[in-house]
Amino acid sequence: VSPTATARRSATAAYDELIHRVRDAHLLGSTGSLLHWDQEVMMPPGGVEHRSRQMSLLARLQHETLTADRIGELLAECEAGGLADDPMSPAAVNLRELRRTYDRRTRLPADLVAEEARLASVAQHHWVEARKESDFQRFRPDLTRVVDLLRRKAECLGWPADGEPWDALAEDFEPGCTARDVEAVFEPLRSRLRALLDQLRGGTPPDLAARRVRVPLERQREAVRAVAEQIGFDFTRGRLDTSAHPFCGGTHCNDVRLTTRFREDGFLDALSSTMHEAGHGMYEQGLLAEHVGTPMGDAVSLGIHESQSRMWENQVGRSLAFCEWLNARFGSIFGLKGPDAARRLFGAANRVEPDLIRVEADEATYNLHVMVRFDLERRLLRGDLDVADVPEAWNQGYRASLGVEVPDDARGCLQDVHWSGCMMGYFPTYTLGNLYAAQFYRQARRELGDLEGGYRTGRFQDLKAWLNQRIHAHGQRHRAADLCVAVTGEPLSADPLMEYLEGKLRPLYRV
Ligand SMILES: [Zn+2]
Repeated sequence: VSPTATARRSATAAYDELIHRVRDAHLLGSTGSLLHWDQEVMMPPGGVEHRSRQMSLLARLQHETLTADRIGELLAECEAGGLADDPMSPAAVNLRELRRTYDRRTRLPADLVAEEARLASVAQHHWVEARKESDFQRFRPDLTRVVDLLRRKAECLGWPADGEPWDALAEDFEPGCTARDVEAVFEPLRSRLRALLDQLRGGTPPDLAARRVRVPLERQREAVRAVAEQIGFDFTRGRLDTSAHPFCGGTHCNDVRLTTRFREDGFLDALSSTMHEAGHGMYEQGLLAEHVGTPMGDAVSLGIHESQSRMWENQVGRSLAFCEWLNARFGSIFGLKGPDAARRLFGAANRVEPDLIRVEADEATYNLHVMVRFDLERRLLRGDLDVADVPEAWNQGYRASLGVEVPDDARGCLQDVHWSGCMMGYFPTYTLGNLYAAQFYRQARRELGDLEGGYRTGRFQDLKAWLNQRIHAHGQRHRAADLCVAVTGEPLSADPLMEYLEGKLRPLYRV
């Protein structure tokens, strides 16, 4: 039955009110982001207590706005009024996503939400101590409480009939993606990565000298800013500052805040963090201002966000063509002389080595670090793995996947902050980002031709414009898996990432 003209008129009014309320919630959230940026970049340490009260007030007001009964009434009115008839229209996309997040938020009892916030802050504190002492036993009671709480949370949220508790939690980070979906692409990736690492072990590792050159911090700061600008980050709508942990934040597509960090002997690290965050930042800047504050003006998922950062960091920033431009433009920084200078830079940026720490891993082995965590999380949430057995299971996973012996908990199961912050279901988004990056990039090359030829002369705008048009401008119109099909014509697969890694690393290692 088609809705009457009156119902449609009232649905339109309901939609306007709904969007108005949702935009108010976004104003609160983006104010919180600015306070967070300030805390990481500018705030004196003395401000921490007052700041945490400011941020928790904003978070509470935002939560109240988004879970008000009125939102539920408005959603129902819009849905009944035929506004979602064309599923790809901005109104239908907004309604679909607002319904999804409203249902999730209102399914969680208020005391569970409060308990989660409290537990995350206490557990994180204990995790810092435990990591310092490298003693898992000190963190064990907290992790037990975290797993218990997350299992209750998953029960409240529910998961698909053929799924598992992990799916319920991952929905916050990668909507629509289940453990089964992840496994389907991780499994071939795992075996091909191991085969590649075996081959590289028999090859000649590239020289690392270019990684260790000492560059004055002031010179590094100028250079990474120039690179971010050259690849297309818009400094009239964004900033680049320094913080302990690099991140991309900000308040709006016209105010995007990147941070990076510097070490005298770590210019290549500063450069790749900057390109990584600039990739996130260009996604944010590429969202459409007219949709800001609604799902149509928001990023698809963490995996898709990460695909944008990884593409600029890896596919672009670790290519030989980019190294040639970099060497021509900033060669004096590296002090590399001779006709093979760019090649040596390229080699140093692409050394692959199985090791212990995820955040220091190269782009190939990184994914194996993620898989160990994914496997443990699933088992913990299903109740198949006891918290007490986490260190042993972790160490076993590293032995089997990466072939390394974990010497202590600090360099083992205590290295990541996520679990202490009550976050499970998050890790795979990093590897999904690598997979999406490779698949999107392959498609960009098919459509745009010789991208690398452009990089040699500092031309990056073709890739950026393609990403703006094919991915950024659509906001949440497509779910991640559907976006992949819409952009590349194929579902996500391990092939593009493996072809990219094999195509680059085998010749480099001469195997
Ligand atoms: Zn990132």
